[in-house]
Amino acid sequence: MTRHRMRGSGVIGRLSALALLAVVLPSCGGTAGSRPSADDPAGPCKLPVADGRGDVAIGGWPRAAERLRAVGEVVATVIMVDFPDAPATMSPDAAFAKIAPSTGIFDEVSYGRFTYRLEPVMKWYRMSAPSTEYAPLTSSFDHHRAYIAEAVALADADVDFSSTESLIVLANPDADGLGEAGPAFTPISSDDGIAVDGTVLMNGATSAHDLGYWGAIWLNHEVTHTLGLPDLYAFEGGEGLPYTGEFGYMGLSSLDANAPGLLGWERWVLGWLDDDQITCLAAPPSASVPVVLTPIGTVGGPKAVVVALGPTRALVAEARTATGLDAGIRKEGVLVYTVDSSVESGFGPVRVVPADPLDPAVGHTTFFDAPRAAGESVEVEGVRVAVVSRAGDGFRLELSAG
Ligand SMILES: [Zn+2]
Repeated sequence: MTRHRMRGSGVIGRLSALALLAVVLPSCGGTAGSRPSADDPAGPCKLPVADGRGDVAIGGWPRAAERLRAVGEVVATVIMVDFPDAPATMSPDAAFAKIAPSTGIFDEVSYGRFTYRLEPVMKWYRMSAPSTEYAPLTSSFDHHRAYIAEAVALADADVDFSSTESLIVLANPDADGLGEAGPAFTPISSDDGIAVDGTVLMNGATSAHDLGYWGAIWLNHEVTHTLGLPDLYAFEGGEGLPYTGEFGYMGLSSLDANAPGLLGWERWVLGWLDDDQITCLAAPPSASVPVVLTPIGTVGGPKAVVVALGPTRALVAEARTATGLDAGIRKEGVLVYTVDSSVESGFGPVRVVPADPLDPAVGHTTFFDAPRAAGESVEVEGVRVAVVSRAGDGFRLELSAG
């Protein structure tokens, strides 16, 4: 996978975060999760936001207040734009069909808790400049914001944005001059949002030519940034996908990936898993601890075991099987990974433990065999995770001192 196919929303968020580092952030009334308390058994495993970026983070409790509500129905307004050098030849309905399946993907990964309702305006609005003048959309936060503001101004006569919580600017999918990076819009101050119709738009995404090969899951990736989650692929160095392989669409966000369903940790941060679906160990176990896990792709049941390794670090194990989005998984079993909430987006906040450090077929680490089957085990930082058996729809594990 070459880097040009990776998305650059993190770059824009980072510029914004740096520019506003010293500003006291106002609360916009987002639905942040409850803070851990002393009588909260999952509390020691709820890693705080500790990476310093301000817009997206792998930590939570609470998530950034400026980010999109993650539970309930969210109204997403979709406006479509084309360009003097790239007038749309496909119908608005045909363009909308490219992103419409994203609603079902959110239904699945949230277990029905997050209803992302797309409300498209079936009309092309013509931007003032050639597509090439807006490319790349990731060049700076201000450049991206101006692009969105122009699109909103064009549509404002037809559209009431007062109930818009999420904004999608869908560019003519054939406009290759717009570039290959369609980023998220995640300002960290309402001063940087887009004021219109009595509201301030703080969360959105803008498609580019890369929509053609990502498909609808492009939208899920970018909108999940607006829910507050970071990129899991590597912004710098490394070959392939050195942190999470093909697991989770915040890494390799392709429907062709073998297991694009979100990680259990991500679903927990967003409130799509309840605390009582997580087994939290406040410290590495000194004696053997039995744990049962049901696959992350099925509704209900215990979904992850989390072992706190420190104030910002944890070990997580979850079961991945050929279910739903993960239908193409190469190997079923228990996926083990570490989370470090002091690590920024794109620099490895989540690291899956591979089965082998080197895949001789390609010369670098791959993660296709990372899930551990019954009879297999893995040891990480003094914690041994052994998959004892698989029965029915569950996996039995034993955690112990390594
Ligand atoms: Zn991204």
